[in-house]
Amino acid sequence: MDKQIFDEMIATRRHLHTIPEEGWTEFQTTYIVAQRLQQLGYTDIRLGTQVINPKCVLGRHEKTVQAAIERAEDSGVPHEFIEKIEGYTGCVAVLNTGRPGPVTAFRFDMDCNPVEETDDPDHAPNRLGFRSTHHGLMHACGHDAHTALGLAVARWIMENKDQLKGTFKLVFQPAEEGVRGAVAIVGSGILDDVDIIIGSHCGGKVKLSEVGLVHKGVLASTKFDIYYKGTPSHAGNNPHKGHSALLAASATAMMIVGIPRHGDGASRVAVGRLVAGEGRNVTPVNAYMQTEVRGETAEINEYLCEKIEHIVKGNAEAYEVEGRIEKVGEATTIIECPDVLNDLKEIAQSLPEVTKVVDLCSPAGSEDFTMMLRHVVQRGGVGGMFRWGCNHHGHHRADFDLQDTQSMPIGFEVFTRYAQKVNGI
Ligand SMILES: [Zn+2]
Repeated sequence: MDKQIFDEMIATRRHLHTIPEEGWTEFQTTYIVAQRLQQLGYTDIRLGTQVINPKCVLGRHEKTVQAAIERAEDSGVPHEFIEKIEGYTGCVAVLNTGRPGPVTAFRFDMDCNPVEETDDPDHAPNRLGFRSTHHGLMHACGHDAHTALGLAVARWIMENKDQLKGTFKLVFQPAEEGVRGAVAIVGSGILDDVDIIIGSHCGGKVKLSEVGLVHKGVLASTKFDIYYKGTPSHAGNNPHKGHSALLAASATAMMIVGIPRHGDGASRVAVGRLVAGEGRNVTPVNAYMQTEVRGETAEINEYLCEKIEHIVKGNAEAYEVEGRIEKVGEATTIIECPDVLNDLKEIAQSLPEVTKVVDLCSPAGSEDFTMMLRHVVQRGGVGGMFRWGCNHHGHHRADFDLQDTQSMPIGFEVFTRYAQKVNGI
């Protein structure tokens, strides 16, 4: 790839790595993306509520958002920018070449993880001086690289626009972690006219110098927050007058992990967090839980969701407390568009730096790109997802790294060559 684009891409990735931002708080990142797109010559840059439908937003916490706005303003993001985006992160750049051709969308996610980065001096960000400066936050899934890759692709498209036809939509998505952001982008209507949508992710099971094509195995998933509200009483004097939110939540946790598995395919259930109670001798009034389910098919996932809803309702009744369940994240399975995957495969196989192209089919994690792909396919379009590999000890770990100088150029080549293939004159 072009040396200048390469240098800028790596520098951008490393800078973004120093300022990780959680889902729905990507204010500095969105600002950097928007500024750079403008410098590159993009004139149609849509931001915040122009590309995020607040009614469809899942898992956004106002307190966390407000704290992040303060941090962003302290580090130089103008107040007017926050006002312009109406407190919602996310950015889509649209480039119409003026020549008829497909509307092609590329998706790049921007958020980080609530992980404290390792102190290990051998960890590349420590060794090369770009570790996270945000306490308790880290790009431990490589979305810093995804965003930088998106800007590099944006630059290439702008520099090569005279050889391209149709329209490009470069989607910089907030809140992929917890599969929260994609539904709100779909809800904005920005993808309604898209003919082709492509997403990518680094790593996973795909090693450095390899490219993976995602055929199957992306699990449908729903994330829930569950709240119970009980009645307080003195645990010594009047235990019979209290209704315990803690016990309702505990029973719920045990019952959720006891849901019978589905005969038609793989499933997952998890209770990741349970906070309850106020003090030793008070009947607990409040309980809060974070749970998630996943299924190999949308039907299996839906089966698990229904079971959880019954359990929450049933335990509210049994423990005489109020129960409330809130959906905070949603993703579906991947739709396989063979022609798109074949094109991506041909491109990957043609790259001298790629040693192996693998077909990914076995159950793995979840990815909310699936919600965008489903929307595009339902409206007659196509799309697909690929992985550009890296060597790592596991995503979301404090020592996650992705060998940016070797791995990212492969992602760049696949995107830009695909752009040439479908939107080339
Ligand atoms: Zn990720």
